[in-house]
Amino acid sequence: VGAVYECQNKDIIEYRKASYILGELKDINAHCDLEDERVKVYCQPVLNTRTNRFASAEALMRLELPETGMVYPDQFIPMAERHDYIHTLSKIILNKTCRQIKRLEQEGYQIDRVSVNFSILEFRRKEFCKDVMDIIRQNEIPYEKVAIELTESWNETEFDNIKNTITSLQKLGIKFYLDDFGTGYSNFERIIGLPIDVIKFDRSLTILAGKNAESRYMVGSFSDIFKNSHYEILFEGVENEKDEDQCKQMNALYLQGYKYSKPIPIEELTRFLGRAV
Ligand code: C2E
Ligand code: CA
Ligand code: CA
Ligand code: CA
Repeated sequence: VGAVYECQNKDIIEYRKASYILGELKDINAHCDLEDERVKVYCQPVLNTRTNRFASAEALMRLELPETGMVYPDQFIPMAERHDYIHTLSKIILNKTCRQIKRLEQEGYQIDRVSVNFSILEFRRKEFCKDVMDIIRQNEIPYEKVAIELTESWNETEFDNIKNTITSLQKLGIKFYLDDFGTGYSNFERIIGLPIDVIKFDRSLTILAGKNAESRYMVGSFSDIFKNSHYEILFEGVENEKDEDQCKQMNALYLQGYKYSKPIPIEELTRFLGRAV
């Protein structure tokens, strides 16, 4: 009986927390303030193996709410997508990211670009391109400083639309990353034909490659194919030296993971970046 009670009690607490977060999301969406203090940009530095420097990073969203403190993406992104609040959150993240890029540049730090995650839902909106362009322009940074990460969760029917959207933003200099390769519906046919710049190998592939010679050969073969097709390759979830060595041997241009840093507030990226001389 005690266990049942505890379980129900936990469910009630979880339910209350979820409704509270939903209420805050609704409020954030209604105000649509690109400076909203509740939305925080965290950032994970990315190592360039060619230069052995950190010159780029991935922006990762968190919420900081009065009653719960820090809230992580798995606790609010799916909800924000379901209720159609995700567009507002993305605009806020993009705006704050651009402003930090501007500040870093003004202070003399060298940063190639920061990538921002976008849900495939965004690509279905007519205003998507214009919103992205406006926000980057308003912050007075070059388009090349921003990259967009997307996961391959599109339908066959919208492939052409997505391709056109990517192409028109790419012409401005925005790079596109295919996120989480190796999960979901990954197949070559879906990827080839899209003008993607960087393929991000999911952490599960980094782990798989460490298992045995056979799986390592398999992951390595995927990376060979992409490399020969002129994609740049990033491995996620690099946690130790063994992961690092192995990913370097599998054509990794970029490495990202806890070995280098957990996500940190974007202001703290300065610890990883070199200054121009
Ligand atoms: P993702 O885009 O695949 O982001 C990578 C996630 O892996 C991050 O979790 C990061 O903290 C975690 N990670 C990084 N290195 C390591 C490692 O070495 N080991 C392990 N175990 N984990 C590592 P986070 O920040 O909780 O984000 C989770 C997901 O939420 C992201 O997965 C992304 O799909 C989504 N997300 C985050 N920010 C945004 C956003 O601004 N917009 C949208 N639409 N989605 C976002
Ligand atoms: Ca990502
Ligand atoms: Ca990922
Ligand atoms: Ca992921």
